[in-house]
Amino acid sequence: MFALDNLVRPNIRAMKPYSSARDEFQGEARVMLDANENSLGSAGPDLFNRYPDPQQRAVKAPLAKLKGVDPSQIFLGNGSDEAIDLLVRLTCTPGQDSILLLPPTYGMYEVAANLNDVRIERVPLTADFQLSPEIVSQVLASPAKLVFLCSPNNPTGNLLHAEYIEEILRGFGGLVVVDEAYADFAEAPSWTTRLAEFPNLVVLQTFSKAWGLAGLRLGMAFASPEVINYLNKIKPPYNISEATQQHALAALQDAPHFGQMREQLLTGRDWLNQQLPALAIVEEVFPSDANFLLVRFRPDATAVYDYLLGKGIVVRNRTTQPGCAGTLRLTVGTTEENEQLVQALQNFSSSR
Ligand SMILES: *Cc1c(COP(=O)(O)O)cnc(C)c1O
Repeated sequence: MFALDNLVRPNIRAMKPYSSARDEFQGEARVMLDANENSLGSAGPDLFNRYPDPQQRAVKAPLAKLKGVDPSQIFLGNGSDEAIDLLVRLTCTPGQDSILLLPPTYGMYEVAANLNDVRIERVPLTADFQLSPEIVSQVLASPAKLVFLCSPNNPTGNLLHAEYIEEILRGFGGLVVVDEAYADFAEAPSWTTRLAEFPNLVVLQTFSKAWGLAGLRLGMAFASPEVINYLNKIKPPYNISEATQQHALAALQDAPHFGQMREQLLTGRDWLNQQLPALAIVEEVFPSDANFLLVRFRPDATAVYDYLLGKGIVVRNRTTQPGCAGTLRLTVGTTEENEQLVQALQNFSSSR
């Protein structure tokens, strides 16, 4: 049986969280002299003199509706990166515990582990960046406190097979974090629809990709209310600024623009998927359920990377990532940017 309390660090179970002025009194009073704020107003064009809601209720209400979950199942972080860091800190005692990664994958899991002096176990994905029965067995045998499953995976773009994720959810002893930063670009249902079945499931999503709000820094974690309570217990009290909360609320009310951008990016992905394989320098375009394509170039991906840089086009060189030799990661851009990219690749291809 899954017991969250056995996974949470003893010092975190025992500690008392910071109780902010806004925790102790919520709502509108006539005279607010409890938080050492400035009652006169704010420097700058906008009024931000009051501390923000530490529980972000105004944002969570429409977000819960959109995602089909309860507000008590939502944690908001200063980017998903904050949620990743807090999940590591919640479960792993420094110098003692470990997390499990399936490379090639997103780099921040490793950074969060290193920052917190937490060991990393690695079980590589298959050559086509998938889970397999052997990999699932190794995951289930691991004593790690957390496993990160990135689906669609960065930098490879593919969804991980759902049946294997389900086996991991049923058998793994720690928390299973499914990072769905790119879920808005995938056809598959979100794992948020399975939260009631799996008390050890944490789903990460973000406003940085399909919502077009990377500069805002707002990430989401969905999990049982018990896991969410622990994340709220250890987060900095005012981790989501008032400006971010107001802007996120406005974005959530602008769903048509979100849908329209999403469609345009998917169209751009389809177009690049048609164009790229025709180039002589392209060896393989990996299947993508995200807003980017991992592409294997021949004979020298770094020469392609350098050529593009010289033309003012920057892509991500992934040649040193495990299983990714010869690859560049290309983000889907505007129609014009995609055309410029393909044109530059054609020019490079025919100049050789
Ligand atoms: C981009 C990305 C994120 C988003 O991180 P934020 O901190 O929310 O911007 C999370 N996970 C993966 C795999 C990503 O590629």
